[in-house]
Amino acid sequence: MDIEIRTVNNIKGRGVFAKKNFPSGTVIFEEDPLVCCQFSWNASYMYRTCHHCLRPLETAQENAQRLTANEELILPYPECCSTDKSAIVSCILCGVEYCSSDCMTIAFNRYHRTLCFKTKERNNLHPLEQLNEAWKQTHYPPETNTIMIIPRLLATIQQADNPDQMLQNVLQFSHRTINEDAQLVHKLLGDKFSEQLVLLYNILLQAVPHKGVEQLLTIEGFQSLLALIGTNGQGVGTSAVSQWVTRSSELPLPDAEKQQLDNFIDKLYEDMDRVSGNFLNNEGVALFSLQSSANHSCVPNSEPTYLHNNSRLSLVALKDIAAGEEITISYLDECNLFRSRHSRHKILMENYLFICQCPKCESQVNDPDVTSNEEEDDEEMSE
Ligand SMILES: [Zn+2]
Ligand SMILES: [Zn+2]
Ligand SMILES: [Zn+2]
Repeated sequence: MDIEIRTVNNIKGRGVFAKKNFPSGTVIFEEDPLVCCQFSWNASYMYRTCHHCLRPLETAQENAQRLTANEELILPYPECCSTDKSAIVSCILCGVEYCSSDCMTIAFNRYHRTLCFKTKERNNLHPLEQLNEAWKQTHYPPETNTIMIIPRLLATIQQADNPDQMLQNVLQFSHRTINEDAQLVHKLLGDKFSEQLVLLYNILLQAVPHKGVEQLLTIEGFQSLLALIGTNGQGVGTSAVSQWVTRSSELPLPDAEKQQLDNFIDKLYEDMDRVSGNFLNNEGVALFSLQSSANHSCVPNSEPTYLHNNSRLSLVALKDIAAGEEITISYLDECNLFRSRHSRHKILMENYLFICQCPKCESQVNDPDVTSNEEEDDEEMSE
């Protein structure tokens, strides 16, 4: 490993540090998630992905046709599509789809044996489906999380070779007091959070076996699981179209053909933007052990990316990083990252319970406490 986790004196209690120099643009490390789950609305709107690794199951052309609502659209250079439809398999019991038999086997051995249920022979919704529906009723797109990662996390503990060790691995993500958990859950579930909490809790109790995870299935345990996914959940995005764009743009083409392709791609993005807006990717949330050890900075020196077009995370250096330097990421999305210091601090405090002391925040320490324009607009709109 070219990095190390060190104890540091902040809310997380640890940080990730470089053990060698990383030039800008290089991959610092890669890791697969402990668990990953597609967002609930994203899945129900037919963004077809592998149930385990979120790899797209549509071809680039199918993806482009759906996002532009144009069934006649034909993508040139189909060899640049990376979706292998012949490898797709589905669970014979419940029908969920996987990108490969490898993913199906891994999923079954890690958590799916516990969570698989026959959908076809039932009249009533299975408690897991009820949980998903209850979540969707209060968490509309744009989505930032899904409760469905929690059953997967619990089943991963239960099916582990050493469940006690796996439970400890999960608990390392969560080190807060009941009061702090409650604040975070309030933010995650919204104003009626206490009713929501009890509603979701009662369905979850019906939906999963309890053996070995009893301590997480008390109401406080459930609350701390929600706080855990709220503070550690990392967004994952995959896309058949963007993979095709990357690959086709690398083709060694004559100038005229290259120009034609560029024009085609520009038009494609215009059309997708008009029909599907910001909802272009397959999206979900995942828990990563290394990445979640990285602290936030408003001027981060690295960023999580998905170079393999599945849930495998690649942390890429955004600038030259020297050996010994702390590796930081942004917990704020791009839009929030450019708001005023006051706005950033408000969001970080509400969602992560800490006050940022990064170089940018320190340099802006004398800025007036005003919210940035976008946020004022948001507040006006919600009034
Ligand atoms: Zn897969
Ligand atoms: Zn199944
Ligand atoms: Zn900051």
